[in-house]
Amino acid sequence: MIPFDNSYARLPDRFYRRTAPTPVKEPRLVKVNEPLAERLGVPVADLTAAVLAGNEVPPGADAIALAYAGHQFGNFVPQLGDGRAILLGEVVGKDGRRDIQLKGSGRTPFSRGGDGRAAVGPVLREYLMSEAMAALGIPTTRALGFVTTGERVMREGVLPGAILARVASSHLRVGTFEFFAAREDGEGVKALVDYAIARHYPDAVGPLGLLQKVVDAQANLVAHWLGVGFIHGVMNTDNTSISGETIDYGPCAFLDVYDPRKKFSSIDVQGRYAFQNQPKIAQWNLARFAETLLPFLAESEEEQVRLATTELERFVDVFEKAQARILRAKLGLFTEAEGDRALALDLLERMAANEVDFTLLFRQLAASAASVDADTATAALFREPGAFRDWAEGWRKRCALEDATPEARSEAMRRTNPAFIPRNMRVEEAIAAATIRGDFAPFETLHAVLARPYDDQPEHAAFAEPPAPEDTRGYKTFCGT
Ligand code: AMP
Ligand code: MG
Repeated sequence: MIPFDNSYARLPDRFYRRTAPTPVKEPRLVKVNEPLAERLGVPVADLTAAVLAGNEVPPGADAIALAYAGHQFGNFVPQLGDGRAILLGEVVGKDGRRDIQLKGSGRTPFSRGGDGRAAVGPVLREYLMSEAMAALGIPTTRALGFVTTGERVMREGVLPGAILARVASSHLRVGTFEFFAAREDGEGVKALVDYAIARHYPDAVGPLGLLQKVVDAQANLVAHWLGVGFIHGVMNTDNTSISGETIDYGPCAFLDVYDPRKKFSSIDVQGRYAFQNQPKIAQWNLARFAETLLPFLAESEEEQVRLATTELERFVDVFEKAQARILRAKLGLFTEAEGDRALALDLLERMAANEVDFTLLFRQLAASAASVDADTATAALFREPGAFRDWAEGWRKRCALEDATPEARSEAMRRTNPAFIPRNMRVEEAIAAATIRGDFAPFETLHAVLARPYDDQPEHAAFAEPPAPEDTRGYKTFCGT
């Protein structure tokens, strides 16, 4: 028995529509995330093909599609909602309460034109990406498993269908609040505030307390993204979680060559969601969140705006502190000193100018921390090796202010600078094998490698290699809806 306890389904029914998943022809269980199931307190034996396909709704589930709105690329859409996902219910496991949702489980009242289905490619991408983020220690939704459906979905062409079981701290989005604020439904927003506080931030007091927590969570999240070179790709407010988890792995991808203006998403024509814009966009999304809370912050409009503005300005501070902490760790610095931020930003600038692979450089820098002999290899990552050698002089002086041994510094850096990220071409390989040949072996191998991103895995050294420039130039991702 899956021990469901469905708190969201106990909210008034304008928060969702009761919607059963639509059965599929021939469900085949491809993957179950056993360690995650164990943390959730869900017996693996209950995660059958029929359950993960939505062909059988397990006892205790209360299947609902959630209502939400959202700003997409800056434009408000008052009605979105789960158009291809259905929340089966919640479980309370070792890490607290979690949603179990089926994504690709058929049409819902919110589907509008869409078919409510998912192709195997986007399901694999979300599985690989979200589990990689979890292994990197970044707040994220998780993947509990997936099935193929034996049905075909129409996208760019005809593709094999699949359904992902997604696990999230909740599916409360900024867009959920916007949905009710747009309907001038004060009761709706208030109920959401109470619900969000009880579920995520029990020590927060009132709407302002909630806003503070969400500002903190989002600022920290985006700092983490920048620390590993992650580009979300579609930071719409409906993809901005109140819990501060990374959610909605559509067109996301990791940087290879460091380029702060990088974007991969084919639909992000203007680069709104480019790598370096992410903090600014998170703050913009939080402003939309704050707007929904305004009437509840204070009596006078002036005071409402003052309180919200103070919080939104504080975002910059929280983000910069988090980013400074992460960058210091990436450089192997244990203490805080003036000039650390400048030192880190100087390195990033040199990396951009020299088209250096982001992940490879920081991992290699751990070797340079252990021994100056490694500098030849590190400098060789730069088009102009002197660009590194100049910088390294200042970095070594800075390191010398601390009495850590080179080995300890290097080891700490190896715990914070991963060797393995989901390299774009590797993800594509795994997707292509599954889509074209129904072969999930490349997915399994890649997934296993990404589960241990900080360990050297000599037998998988090829997975750490950056793509050839001709493979990565012009690489694009798609929302996969
Ligand atoms: P997303 O791109 O996942 O943020 O989705 C934006 C909106 O489009 C959400 O309301 C989705 O539920 C909806 N949507 C995306 N794909 C589909 C689909 N295949 N069928 C129905 N609705 C969809
Ligand atoms: Mg979405």
